[in-house]
Amino acid sequence: MRRQVKQLVLDALYRSAERKPEIIPLLTGKAAAFVKLIPLNRAALERKLARVITSNQRAELDKLLRLLGDPPDLSRVNDEYWQNGWRSLQADIEPVLVETFVQQAVAMLDTISIGVDWALINTNAVRWASQYSFELVHGITDVSRRALQEIIPRFYTDGWDLGKLRGMLESTYGPIRAEMIAITETTRAATEGERAIMDALNRESGVQMVPIWQTSNDEASHKCPICGPRHGKPIQDNMFPPAHPRCRCWVIYDYADNIKP
Ligand SMILES: [Zn+2]
Repeated sequence: MRRQVKQLVLDALYRSAERKPEIIPLLTGKAAAFVKLIPLNRAALERKLARVITSNQRAELDKLLRLLGDPPDLSRVNDEYWQNGWRSLQADIEPVLVETFVQQAVAMLDTISIGVDWALINTNAVRWASQYSFELVHGITDVSRRALQEIIPRFYTDGWDLGKLRGMLESTYGPIRAEMIAITETTRAATEGERAIMDALNRESGVQMVPIWQTSNDEASHKCPICGPRHGKPIQDNMFPPAHPRCRCWVIYDYADNIKP
């Protein structure tokens, strides 16, 4: 596991060396404002995360249906399953979160010139991903458990067969939920990667840059009641994207002098 994470970090660093043109520092007058484009590989990272969640959850659903038996009996799914069932999902998700964190940190680093201790950034990435994926996967598992508790009785009350039961559990274990989680968590890991660099900048040079919320460029997010009003405004309440499931918002950083009060 740790070896896999290390390899991912190295891969991300290697790839970033070929991606520098995506990051465009814009110089405006004396002060420099850095406009960061969303890395082109953001969609690829999202897809990758969705893929690992989908395949994990497909296997999980097979395992659950085997445990439930025919006819399905929820009491066969014991506490041990719920206490340990999340581990494989966490093992799948964690390295992708690390990769996203590091790639975004690298992208951010391309826009500023500070000497950053990469070992520290990598340690931060691994620490954050390990801690956060634990919370995330527990949340995912709780929702699944509740869904199962609601759905299984309907097998009997509504006269379903096992095919129908499987179909009904697809919304919990299927690709649509996986995609939703992937979009949201890619946003989160990317935001965290940038913040790690900004913290390093602050530590190294004392410079405090101001984060500015950016909605993604689709109409839906401009109209989003949570993100729409935040667009283009400095983040002052320590709330960073994602603001809600499927949030693809991002952040740019500017010098405090450039921000109009
Ligand atoms: Zn948003």
